Amino acid sequence: GVVTRDIHLSFGATPVLRGVDLDVEHGHTACVIGPSGSGKSTFLRTINRLLEPSRGDVLLDGRSVLGEDPDRLRRRIGMVFQQFNLFPHMSILRNLTLPLRRIRGVSADEAEAIARRQLDLVGLAGKADARPGHLSGGQQQRAAIARALAMEPQVMLFDEATSALDPELVKGVLGLMADLAGEGMTMVVVTHEMGFAREAADTVVFLDEGVSVEAGPPSQIFEAPVSPRLKQFLSDVL
Ligand code: ATP
Ligand code: MG
Repeated sequence: GVVTRDIHLSFGATPVLRGVDLDVEHGHTACVIGPSGSGKSTFLRTINRLLEPSRGDVLLDGRSVLGEDPDRLRRRIGMVFQQFNLFPHMSILRNLTLPLRRIRGVSADEAEAIARRQLDLVGLAGKADARPGHLSGGQQQRAAIARALAMEPQVMLFDEATSALDPELVKGVLGLMADLAGEGMTMVVVTHEMGFAREAADTVVFLDEGVSVEAGPPSQIFEAPVSPRLKQFLSDVL
C-alpha cells in the first residue's frame, strides 16, 4: 500500500503542503478531494518523487521511497494526467512500446505483444496504428492508462484524469478506472467526480489549504462530514 506521513512542501516561500497524511492499503483506492489550489496535484507528485517534500515520508509497501532512485520508483508507480501526455507524432502502439523497451527493457516483439494486449483490454485494439490526434479525448486517455498499465505498476496515480474530457466521454474513462479499482489495483485518485469517489473509493481524503483535514470511508465523508470546511466544500460541489 501507500502511506504518507505529515508531508510538507513549499514553492519558494509559499507553503503549499502543510501536513498531508494518507493510508491506502494494498489493493485499495483512495480518492483525494478538495478545492482548487488546495495542493492535490502537488501532493500526488510527492508520491512518485516528481516533487520532493521538505518534511515527512512516503512509504510504498512499508518502505520509504525517499531514498530510492526516482527512475526506478516511477517504474513501479504509474501516473495518468489530465492532459494525456501522449507523443503526438507516434502511433498509439509506439506510445506504449517505447517506454516498455526503454524503461522496462523488454524486446521489441515482447513490447508489441504486451502493448497490443493492453490496448485490447482498454477497448483500443483497432487504434494501435493511429496517431493520438486521430482519437477522441476519451480514447486518448484510455491509451494513456494502457501505457501506464503496460509497465505493470504496483500503484496507479490519477490526477483529474477526466477533467479535460467532453461530458459524454467521462463515463467510459471512469468506468475503466472503476474496473481497475475492482480488480485490486492500488490507486490514489485526485478527482472532482464525487460520484466516482462515493462508488469506487475505499478511503476519501479531503485536502484543504495543504492539510489533510478529514479522511474516512466514503459513507463517512459524504454522509457524516465533521469539519466545517468539508461540509462547506460538499455543499459547494454536490
Ligand atoms: P486544482 O484542483 O485546480 O488542480 P490543486 O489542488 O491540484 O488544484 P496544486 O496544483 O497542487 O492545487 O497547487 C497548489 C498551490 O501551489 C497553488 O496555489 C498553486 O498556485 C501552487 N503551485 C503549484 N505548482 C507550483 C509551482 N510549480 N510553483 C509555484 N507554485 C505552485
Ligand atoms: Mg490539480
